[in-house]
Amino acid sequence: MTSSTTTTQKLSERINNVTPSATLEMAAKARELRAEGKDIIGLSLGEPDFNTPDYIKNAAIQAVNDDYNSYTPVDGYVALKDAIITKFKRDNDLVYDRSQIVVSTGAKQSLYNVAQVVLDKGDEVILPCPYWVSYSDIVKLADGVPVEVSTTLENDFKMTPEQLETAITPRTKMLWYSSPCNPSGSIYSKDELRALANVLQKHPQIVVVSDEIYEHINYGVTAHASMAQFEDMYDRTVTVNGVAKAFAMTGWRIGYIGAPSYIARASNKLQGQVTSGANCIAQRAVITALTESPSRVQYMVDEFKERRKLILGLLNSIEGFRCNEPEGAFYVYPDVTAYFGKTLNGVTINNASDFAMYLLEHANVATVTGDAFGNGNCIRISYAASEKEIREAIARIQGALEQ
Ligand code: PMP
Ligand code: GLU
Repeated sequence: MTSSTTTTQKLSERINNVTPSATLEMAAKARELRAEGKDIIGLSLGEPDFNTPDYIKNAAIQAVNDDYNSYTPVDGYVALKDAIITKFKRDNDLVYDRSQIVVSTGAKQSLYNVAQVVLDKGDEVILPCPYWVSYSDIVKLADGVPVEVSTTLENDFKMTPEQLETAITPRTKMLWYSSPCNPSGSIYSKDELRALANVLQKHPQIVVVSDEIYEHINYGVTAHASMAQFEDMYDRTVTVNGVAKAFAMTGWRIGYIGAPSYIARASNKLQGQVTSGANCIAQRAVITALTESPSRVQYMVDEFKERRKLILGLLNSIEGFRCNEPEGAFYVYPDVTAYFGKTLNGVTINNASDFAMYLLEHANVATVTGDAFGNGNCIRISYAASEKEIREAIARIQGALEQ
């Protein structure tokens, strides 16, 4: 028997209104095509191609052998919360106490929790575009209304204070951004954050979500800064972070927040009814990841930096690709509008989705359409792949575009 939808039993409007994650969907499509025997190079998923470092794996093995197998406190082991508190002080000069920390099943759940506990129906959330793919659906799942603010390549895809001011309405409840940004790699400097904070000063009802999951993947042009470092913003900023990217731990699923206590308590309450807390072994491993110096994972950042140089050089030599220079994370986000309206191999390219699909079908390279990030002029290419794969992928793309 096969399962099918019926006319009598229906799914909720809520889930019907959710767009599937474009990054995960493209990765799944690439996997399917590979299973059919196609030689697909996957540059769609934001996932380091390194293994989790041994010193972190050993902490997990130790935890298994030490019989860490019970439920953990819902908001995370005390020892992990303490490691996070030390990390925030060491790396960000941010002082939190245990009541302000919540450990979750990935930074994605941290973001989901915060949206659920802060937003009411119709509350507006300002999202500078391009934004990370899941922000707008996480907001919609909390009955919030995403308000997209367009940015330009010329301005390094950053929102200006004037744009922020214009986007604010009496219904604005939150501002969400990532810095370093997925997908553009842009980093807001401390001065740029201060200028945005100056606008927010006039609107004390707005809570900020500062997603800093790429903090350590920074190529040294602009120093990492946190909105919560400003005294007047500390009490209304949620700092989101996680171990997936810098520590090559995507599948371990650990993220966390440092937040005003009332938001942390509410996230804890929600999580207690949804997951009961994050995985116990992963939490033990993350204590080690965060306690050790970030310099232990610098070798991955150094490698990403080399690949960034390589991919930018290769892409800039293809006519019609315009790239900003990403300062962090591991993505390039080229503007490909030069191809819109053109017909290649009998396929008319009308938008970024057509372009990404064309690359998948005619170059066997998986990328992600910029539409998924709230900017339809670009595609996102992840360079968390080997040098060989990057060279081969860009050569294939070039070949397919010359047709
Ligand atoms: N924020 C950003 C900007 C991301 O790119 C990602 C992707 N991993 C997440 C949050 C979610 O991270 P996690 O894997 O820890 O859920
Ligand atoms: N954050 C990664 C990305 O943007 C992983 C995929 C996901 O979590 O959606 O590709």
